[in-house]
Amino acid sequence: MLGSLARKLRALGFDAAYYKSGDDAGLLERSVLESRIILTADRSLAARAEAMGVKAMLVVGDSDRERVGSIAGWASASGIVLMRGDPLCSLCGGELRSVGKDDLSEVPPAVRRRHRLFFRCNSCGQLYWRGSHWKKLMSVARRLGQG
Ligand SMILES: [Zn+2]
Repeated sequence: MLGSLARKLRALGFDAAYYKSGDDAGLLERSVLESRIILTADRSLAARAEAMGVKAMLVVGDSDRERVGSIAGWASASGIVLMRGDPLCSLCGGELRSVGKDDLSEVPPAVRRRHRLFFRCNSCGQLYWRGSHWKKLMSVARRLGQG
């Protein structure tokens, strides 16, 4: 349910894992093992995590913008500092490296002319550039106090 939020958070450089399966026990176990905070829209899961001493946050809002706002509010109320690293691949969470324009045969020439910075995922090979979606991401970052 929060898959697109997880992709945005990764693109911003947060180590956000997305857990698809409905196996709450598995999710709770993994959160403990990897010292993760659970972001969920599921009230009963959040309560269950809390009862187990696992940090969990109930994400509210109808859009990713609102959801990000709710994360920022919760973090500051809980005294949690959100640590953002270098942008990660939004598909797989892999590290991105910048690539030169010579390495971009699959990019349409118009895009190559318009943009300067291109990045490729070390894990899955996905190519990124800082286009209009980057500006949207930065507005998400500002909502998290990370702009
Ligand atoms: Zn990737």
